[in-house]
Amino acid sequence: MQAFRFALDPSPAQERVLRSHAGAARFAWNWGLAKCMERYAAERRWYSAIDLQKLWNAEKKADPGLAWWAQNSKCAYQEAFRNLDRALRDYIKSKKGERKGRKLGFPKFKKHGRSRDSFRLYGAIRCGRATVTLPRLGTMRTHEPVLKLSRKIEDGTARILSATVSRTAQRWFVSFAVEVERDAPKHHARPGTAIGVDLGVKTLLTGVDDRGRLIEVAGPKPLRAGLRRLRRASRVHSRKRPGSAGRRKSAARLARLHARVASVRADALHKATTALATGYERVVVEDLNVTGMLANRRLARAVSDQGFGAARRMLGYKTAREGGTLVVSDRWYPSSKTCSGCGSVKAKLTLAERIYQCDSCGLVTGRDVNAARNLLSLAASGADRVNACRAAVRPGLAAGRAALKQEPGTADAGQTGTAAIVAAVA
Ligand SMILES: [Zn+2]
Repeated sequence: MQAFRFALDPSPAQERVLRSHAGAARFAWNWGLAKCMERYAAERRWYSAIDLQKLWNAEKKADPGLAWWAQNSKCAYQEAFRNLDRALRDYIKSKKGERKGRKLGFPKFKKHGRSRDSFRLYGAIRCGRATVTLPRLGTMRTHEPVLKLSRKIEDGTARILSATVSRTAQRWFVSFAVEVERDAPKHHARPGTAIGVDLGVKTLLTGVDDRGRLIEVAGPKPLRAGLRRLRRASRVHSRKRPGSAGRRKSAARLARLHARVASVRADALHKATTALATGYERVVVEDLNVTGMLANRRLARAVSDQGFGAARRMLGYKTAREGGTLVVSDRWYPSSKTCSGCGSVKAKLTLAERIYQCDSCGLVTGRDVNAARNLLSLAASGADRVNACRAAVRPGLAAGRAALKQEPGTADAGQTGTAAIVAAVA
């Protein structure tokens, strides 16, 4: 299963239909939730998605106020009921402690303009060169070429199961759930190679490989500029009076900037993680929770935290695709505090300390480099947890491979040789 995501370029008429469908999905969710709450109050039980569908079919014909339902694909309603069903089940599981992750609250009513606009469609879905054809919506242009997917469908190696349409800031996207036939290689093209990777705030990622080479991927320039603009915009936004027109405008601008930063970052991460997965058989990263525990509410941090999750997910499916492995360090492994030279562990290391100085052996090296080297040592020790991550694949933003530039002799304590710098092309 693989997801293919494309930015849509709808005509004004099509955009109206998109909004209408998103509204229908939201209405169905709220309608179903109200029904479920009503029944729960009386009988201590809810309706299933199928029950809701039956109720809806009866009521939409009986109530003239609901006559507009026929303007939208029936999928929009059906899928909203299914989503609600799942949300209620997940809530119960979470309450009973049968579900991993943070505690889930009871499903909420969706508000226009507040909740995410999204709906799912089944049926006659087709792809062209730079167009997609969806049931009820017809043929729409896309901002990116769709040809790669179209070819796969043509030669029978891919099959579209459903399409989810959603809006981020002012842009609409379609994400296809696709069944793809692919021969996963049994062995990696470069067996025995390994790299430890530290995901960073300033530097996108820092890696040290089994040959002692240092690999650094700086965040692309548009990302840094975007973060600066985001900081400024959120300051401006916070000063606007709640409910004012100015606040609405600044909120839209903020959402646009957020979307832009996220997509630039995702693009850079895609290039970097593809280079890592194809270049190394074993890729070792830190467990996400370690970074999650570092409470830091700064904006740049919040944005990069999202990046950690995305990078982990990408590395998971990309290493598997290349016949390699993603190794995730133990949650409590102190990769930053441990000296990569002698193994002694510091009691305290603040985030501000960018240089690691060992009090036992005197090693002085970059904080990220030290962490990456520690993670690399885990690849060899075998005392690690292998992540059998098979998350949904979202290569929609991936484009080409990162340019691998060789640069001679960057200073790295105790290491000689060349350092490859994966230049994240901006
Ligand atoms: Zn040391």
